[in-house]
Amino acid sequence: MKIEMEKLISHLKSMGFVFQGSEIYGGLANSWDYGPLGAELKNNLKQLWWDFFIKKNPYNIGLDSSIIMNPKVWEASGHIGNFNDPLLDCKECNSRWRADKLIEEKFIDLNVGGWQDSELEEFINEKKITCPKCNKTNFTNIRKFALMFKTNQGVVEDASSTVYLRPETAQGIFVQYKNAQRTLRKQLPFGIGQIGKSFRNEITPGNFIFRTREFEQMELEFFFAPNDTKDWFEYWLDQVQDFLTNVIGIKKENYILREHDKEELAHYSSRTVDIEFKFPFGVGELWGIANRGDFDLSQHQKTSGQDLTYLDPITNEKYLANVIEPSVGVERLLLAIFCQSYKEEKLDNGERILMQLPFNLAPYKVAILPLQKQQIDKSLEVYELINKTLGYSSTFDEKGNIGKRYRRQDAIGTPFCITIDFETNSDNCVTIRNRDTMEQERISINKIDSYLKNQLS
Ligand code: ATP
Repeated sequence: MKIEMEKLISHLKSMGFVFQGSEIYGGLANSWDYGPLGAELKNNLKQLWWDFFIKKNPYNIGLDSSIIMNPKVWEASGHIGNFNDPLLDCKECNSRWRADKLIEEKFIDLNVGGWQDSELEEFINEKKITCPKCNKTNFTNIRKFALMFKTNQGVVEDASSTVYLRPETAQGIFVQYKNAQRTLRKQLPFGIGQIGKSFRNEITPGNFIFRTREFEQMELEFFFAPNDTKDWFEYWLDQVQDFLTNVIGIKKENYILREHDKEELAHYSSRTVDIEFKFPFGVGELWGIANRGDFDLSQHQKTSGQDLTYLDPITNEKYLANVIEPSVGVERLLLAIFCQSYKEEKLDNGERILMQLPFNLAPYKVAILPLQKQQIDKSLEVYELINKTLGYSSTFDEKGNIGKRYRRQDAIGTPFCITIDFETNSDNCVTIRNRDTMEQERISINKIDSYLKNQLS
């Protein structure tokens, strides 16, 4: 089913998943806050990534590096100087656009990632691409716009105190690569992953949480010897897809793999594949997997003057490790999950909105619903059992008629509802309802654990 973004956004706002940032002050362009349910869901997603890529992967270890780093880091990485967007202004209506996006939106099969500014300008003039606002073709030449947020550290505001908010988490990993390797006595191959905030002063943020100026990334830098014969790129491409389909339930038909051609590849990369999700507003990058060679380590070695080579314990050779980087944005992944889960269903007695979230992502796994006030004590007992003893995050709802309560739990993606009814006190049984099939079954309270385990397997 093709969903409408407006409907999805309004649903997410009204249910407490996502709120407009600074809303009581009229908002701040393109900023979003995560409400109580969004925060739960986001935490679940990050935890699943961490479990899969760090805890359960035999090669990898984790890290948590700073957002503000020595500015030399960004000189070495090439962000100061190269991390900018090609902008042009419409001379007729003074609106400002990204040249590459103007072209790609008109010619959707074209990818102009590696084009020079002059090529972009020429193409726009030749094809007479018009301004999306006023429909005229009268643009300025391209100017570069730096994407890093600048601020000052300390009390003095001059060039010497300028620092930047990191535009990616990856450089924190490269900078601490040697410390992590040495202290954990790691041998190649091994990876270092981290989750954290990144900031980019994007020219064209938008499509809800797809492109924002403040976002979180989950990045892994996987280091291996240059003469290693295993195809680590394929290994990580498979791992990422394994995570997408088998851990968080993204359906294969909802994404495509796009191999960068020679023209589009960054100068340091020998191979890049983007996993692109079919969002309602178009296909967009979800997860990038890139072979970065030894570019980052060699740049940091050059700029810092520190030896970042690895001493091979078998051959006694010294060399710089090569790197495969799978990198994904938390909110973009969340948006893909929202888009895939949101359903509007017609029922015999009306309709319902369903968030078909996988069990491991759902903010609440179970909702406990007492039919009447007299059953509160028993209900709290079941709530304690599920929340504390069995460890499934659950919620408690005693307000409104039972039909409405079911609808609300469907709309926030709670996989199971447990109703405490008139007989529960005497027979110790409850009614458990499955969100997706809406089937109900009466079971004994001490069978809840095995029932849930059975359903999940
Ligand atoms: P795009 O082409 O969409 O700007 P990118 O190629 O610049 O993305 P990378 O630098 O490879 O993106 O970042 C890795 C991942 O971080 C992306 O695949 C995406 O999931 C996420 N990401 C990047 N920029 C943003 C943003 N402004 N808002 C939300 N997520 C982002």
